[in-house]
Amino acid sequence: MTQTPGRLVKSETIQPHHYGFGTLRKGQTLRIVDVEGQQVADFVSIRLNEPTEYLDCVYTNWLLNRWRWHAGDTIYTNLMNPMWTITADTVDDHYTGGGFCSRVARRLFQIDDRKGCRDTLEDAFEANGIPKVHLQSVSCFNVFMNVGYDPDGSWVLREPKSKAGDYIDLRAEMDLLWLVSVCYWPQVVNGNKPTPLRFETYDA
Ligand SMILES: [Zn+2]
Repeated sequence: MTQTPGRLVKSETIQPHHYGFGTLRKGQTLRIVDVEGQQVADFVSIRLNEPTEYLDCVYTNWLLNRWRWHAGDTIYTNLMNPMWTITADTVDDHYTGGGFCSRVARRLFQIDDRKGCRDTLEDAFEANGIPKVHLQSVSCFNVFMNVGYDPDGSWVLREPKSKAGDYIDLRAEMDLLWLVSVCYWPQVVNGNKPTPLRFETYDA
């Protein structure tokens, strides 16, 4: 049974290769739904009106003493303040190493000359009046992204484990702005087929 974290106040479906954003007040929850399955969100967040404080994967890993995040975990900022709590997670497999795809990467891998998630997120920052220099690689929580840190030292992109309807719930622990690029990388990282994600905002 799918439990809802409160009263739904907003729902938006975002297509791959597009950005989305929204503000949350402390206590509200953002649910990210993998509509068709195997789709990655390049997801960043900053303290509301303070882009120098942002979700930080490395400080979170340090404070959790692991790189695998689970329901019940706190996600921290670069100033080590609690920013989110993972309150539900039907996938339990995400990439927390930071970074995003880019136009440069699409050229390098001879895909095409289109924007990648970094470029799309820069557009999202500028749409909010925030200079794109504030976009930090370490701030990107790659929701539903499956990366293997294999014992032989390999770092391997694999198909996401998420299925249609899977979701993660993030409860805001401060007033914040979230921004996302729904990844358009055509290969295994998105199950070889980029598809939309839905972003639902709930009051407590
Ligand atoms: Zn991407």
